[in-house]
Amino acid sequence: METKILCPDCQTEIKFEKIEVGDILECDECGTEVEIISVEPLKYTLLVEEK
Ligand SMILES: [Zn+2]
Repeated sequence: METKILCPDCQTEIKFEKIEVGDILECDECGTEVEIISVEPLKYTLLVEEK
């Protein structure tokens, strides 16, 4: 089953086949990282890295 979320920054679809809580997904377009905080229901949060 393919799932997708929208990048919170640029709204690009980020597709993936399998996720688990704690997984980090990276947007191909802008490099924004999103952490999965819940799978069912699907919830995720924007990861902000201080550099
Ligand atoms: Zn993005």
